[in-house]
Amino acid sequence: MPALINNLCVIGTGLIGGSLCLALKEVNACNTIIGAGRSETTLQKAKQLNIIDDYNLDISEAVKDADLIFISVPLGAMQTVFEKIEAGLSAAGNTQVIITDAGSSKKQVQEIADKIFSDNAKRFVAGHPIAGTENSGPDAAFSDLYKNRRVILTPSEGTDDEAIRFVRTLWETVGAEVETMGAEHHDKILAATSHLPHILAFGLVHCLENIDDIEDVFRFAAGGFRDVTRIASSDPTMWRDICLNNQQPILDMMKRYRAELDMLYNALEAGDGEKLMEVFQHAKQTRDKFTQ
Ligand code: NAP
Repeated sequence: MPALINNLCVIGTGLIGGSLCLALKEVNACNTIIGAGRSETTLQKAKQLNIIDDYNLDISEAVKDADLIFISVPLGAMQTVFEKIEAGLSAAGNTQVIITDAGSSKKQVQEIADKIFSDNAKRFVAGHPIAGTENSGPDAAFSDLYKNRRVILTPSEGTDDEAIRFVRTLWETVGAEVETMGAEHHDKILAATSHLPHILAFGLVHCLENIDDIEDVFRFAAGGFRDVTRIASSDPTMWRDICLNNQQPILDMMKRYRAELDMLYNALEAGDGEKLMEVFQHAKQTRDKFTQ
């Protein structure tokens, strides 16, 4: 059977891009994988780990013969990367390529794509794998990352159906389950389920840094603390970019959470055990219902 992809170009060979390459290699889905990115050290490491077959530091050169381009760089780097891709594709007259990304917020990415990719815009399929860890870089990549995980595609009205089908097949090939929704809806949902929890984790650890008994706090940290703060070890650059790219939906969720915290504060200050019990019971029921 011919490989699904002849030439894959992956821009950003860290956790997300690297894991996709490893998963595709495991099922022989690509003939060649070329990496591109920012630093030669990372690309060399990715080659050493057999994530990519070769690399090119010049993104415009790297994409010229690609059939599929996968972009997995931090959101703040998307615009510059898109510009380099567009320059390379126009120079090479490559009008068949399909382009997709893994960025954690989607509305702004789509806007950048619409602005920069002229003829190629309709073959850009915005995507977001709902999979990851708190680790970064090629060393963190592993081939099972996407197995039985969801990937959300957020095509716009003008996106080519063939390109959507192809990107769906790409993700299904590595064991993921694909869903499609509007970019705005995606950003609202992810603000609630991923972006707010990360801000809370970063904020909690940061707030504890400033209390006097910091050594003891971390020495006696139990399972609950570890569970709630694991994601505060995530990459700060990536999370700064996610916050800035999905600003309003995250602010809306933070406002809701602030009101909730105020309500709990007031209940505790008033010694209102009934209120605390009511909230904790509801929260437990809701979580048990949705996580089983
Ligand atoms: P990562 O492990 O840090 O990898 C990022 C890669 O992008 C690295 O190879 C890095 O190269 C490269 N890069 C950084 N800045 C660049 C620039 N200006 N130009 C070109 N390449 C650049 O990050 P990741 O976790 O794979 O995340 C990648 C994307 O996936 C992000 O958009 C993120 O929002 C999204 N995502 C992440 C997760 C998660 O849990 N981590 C989940 C879903 C989606 P250098 O080493 O040279 O900097």
